[in-house]
Amino acid sequence: MKNALVTGGAGFIGSHLCEFLLKMGLKVTAMDNLITGDLKNISHLAKSRNFSFIKCDVSEHITINGKVDFVLHFASPASPVDYQKAPIQTLKAGSLGTHNTLGVALAKKAKFILASTSEVYGDPLVNPQLETYWGNVNPIGVRGAYDEAKRFSEALAMAYHRVHKVDTKIARIFNTYGPRMRKDDGRVVPNFIMQALNNKPITIYGDGNQTRSFCYISDLVEGIYKLMMSDINEPVNIGNPEEHTILEFAHMIKKIADSKSKIVFKKLPQDDPHRRCPDISKARKKLKWEPKIGLKEGLAATVGWIKQH
Ligand code: UDP
Repeated sequence: MKNALVTGGAGFIGSHLCEFLLKMGLKVTAMDNLITGDLKNISHLAKSRNFSFIKCDVSEHITINGKVDFVLHFASPASPVDYQKAPIQTLKAGSLGTHNTLGVALAKKAKFILASTSEVYGDPLVNPQLETYWGNVNPIGVRGAYDEAKRFSEALAMAYHRVHKVDTKIARIFNTYGPRMRKDDGRVVPNFIMQALNNKPITIYGDGNQTRSFCYISDLVEGIYKLMMSDINEPVNIGNPEEHTILEFAHMIKKIADSKSKIVFKKLPQDDPHRRCPDISKARKKLKWEPKIGLKEGLAATVGWIKQH
């Protein structure tokens, strides 16, 4: 039986990853300091004897007993509101946390999978974004703590690969949504759904012409798993290439939630990327992966889950 350590295991993506790996027959240890994660996300996994949880901050020293075959480093605040509230923890999770988890992978001879991000492309000057694009990041702006932490973590993973021959993988994760997103994490998906369900004004930042491309969580987790099982060490974009303006997105959610909400326009936050859309040719070709869940279907499932909870 293979053993996996998932940092950020009580978070939105981390908890789905733990669940998926258990289903694939792995033994899973989730690690989280619970600053943005929540034990409720993994309470249903607690009954499995192949699952365990360790409360730990990855930016401190990590002790883990026994064999580890895969280290998946997913710990970090990830919503712009969260990482702007906790920029220092975010920088530490990406730098010290990546160093510590790479150290575990080296010591245990484990494969290492890094949760990187489309934010490494910053406010991209090319669209869609290919893995070969180096990005347009403001290091000292309000998004800098997250963007640079992730860019540093990619550099460190590649250094461990080159120097120590650790089998590292880098998933550049684009906007992902689905059940277990925190209703108050400030991101566009929970914000719009909560506003629509409560018939409150839907708050568009800027003129709504900026674009995002949203990937449903089950698709994302499958992509991560395929990358983890592959022999690729260079970054791979994992996301859904269906691009929408935020204004279109607001109308879509309004319709799905059958809402009477008005649409209102607010100030665009600093350094908010104008366009974001993954080029997933590499994932299609090398991982034989592409998303299957369309936006309407995924949003309906997410709205249903939020209503229930
Ligand atoms: N956004 C918005 N209204 C909200 C929340 C976000 O118009 O209530 C916009 C935000 O300015 C950005 C896009 O939606 O252009 C996606 O924002 P999110 O916070 O989900 O993540 P990002 O993709 O910017 O990291």
